[in-house]
Amino acid sequence: MASSDDLHRRRSAVVARGVSSMIPAYVSSAGGGTMTDVDGREWIDFAAGIAVTNVGNSAPKVVAAIKEQVERFTHTCFMIAPYEQYVAVCEELAALTPGDFEKRSALFNSGAEAVENAVKIARHATGRQAIVVFDHAYHGRTNLTMALTAKVMPYKQGFGPFAPEIYRVPMSYPFRDGGRSGADAAAYAIGQIEKHVGASNVAAVLIEPVQGEGGFVVPAAGFLPALAAWSKQAGAVFIADEIQTGFCRTGSWFASEDEGIEPDLITTAKGIAGGLPLAAVTGRAELMDAVHPGGLGGTYGGNPIACAAALASIETMRELDLAGAARHIESVARPRLEALAAKHPIIGEIRGRGAMLAVELVVPGSIEPDAAATAAIAKAAHESGLLLLTCGTYGNVIRLLPPLIISDDELDRGLTLLEQAFATL
Ligand SMILES: *Cc1c(COP(=O)(O)O)cnc(C)c1O
Repeated sequence: MASSDDLHRRRSAVVARGVSSMIPAYVSSAGGGTMTDVDGREWIDFAAGIAVTNVGNSAPKVVAAIKEQVERFTHTCFMIAPYEQYVAVCEELAALTPGDFEKRSALFNSGAEAVENAVKIARHATGRQAIVVFDHAYHGRTNLTMALTAKVMPYKQGFGPFAPEIYRVPMSYPFRDGGRSGADAAAYAIGQIEKHVGASNVAAVLIEPVQGEGGFVVPAAGFLPALAAWSKQAGAVFIADEIQTGFCRTGSWFASEDEGIEPDLITTAKGIAGGLPLAAVTGRAELMDAVHPGGLGGTYGGNPIACAAALASIETMRELDLAGAARHIESVARPRLEALAAKHPIIGEIRGRGAMLAVELVVPGSIEPDAAATAAIAKAAHESGLLLLTCGTYGNVIRLLPPLIISDDELDRGLTLLEQAFATL
């Protein structure tokens, strides 16, 4: 097998520089809570391919389902000749997403595509145009979703012009907004919407229940319910982007449940299919069905192999109670992170929910972000064999996103490597 160094030389000659990789090692295999590179080195996986392999890499049921499907047929295009697997995924989505109302789903290939379609549906159903998004939001990299995403570098720099009719309002971010209550933060955001956009112009309010890329920001309790209630009153569609939080990551099937909200539309992707590209918009039948036949779709959306993988992933989540596993991961990791915070004044806050945990780094005694220390810790972690991601508008947040099937031993080893990375500071 070619070495990572060899592969890196080949890559530099043919792969676009704009597509970068976090570590210099090339993957040979992965499963459980580990990954092995082509040089035979083992890594502890605290990334899960960015919250995708919640059931683990090459989960047995997922592998079997893919093999069976791939031998029957690989693609017909659901818009040409439909098949059961697509329908079955939509049945699961209707049953699993919050809300006891009649629902419909449409399937796509990527998270960004799902968000774009949720916006299309909301605009079509309401006859309005304005989309409200939040500080620190991340919704993807296509033209419309770049406009919805907050952070310029690296996601938007040089890629404009961006889509119009997108309005950004303040997020509830307790560590950085002086601990404003959820109700106060919502009242402030709503005031901005009413003054700067106008309630009757708002097609949709789009929000991640726990922000991902933007820094694992958990809004203060009550913020999301207040926005959902306002949207209802204003005749706007409330869209929860659960692409990173969904499928057991936060200790529930969907993070919306943690706050008791029932979004009108939910976008899902990442964790849905054990690593195969699949995404969905799920929501109220009357909104989803407002769109004329043929108005939604795409060549590959709801590919049969991806759907088979999703059905097996969902079955695995149920059988192994991966929502419970996410809560267990938190119960093990949070005390270790809190102890780390007690030792290192550079840690401003430990936050998150379930297996979506974050460490925000600041200049001690302040809330001034320390991106350099964050990068140094990530680098030390990578050198020691820990796949560790950072995030945040200010680049100063370390995020833990292990696969939910990680063993206690692997979790312990990963946390020890993280503690050692802090000790190198
Ligand atoms: C990753 C992500 C997206 C974009 O998904 P892609 O599959 O990368 O297009 C959108 N929203 C959230 C919350 C995400 O985490």
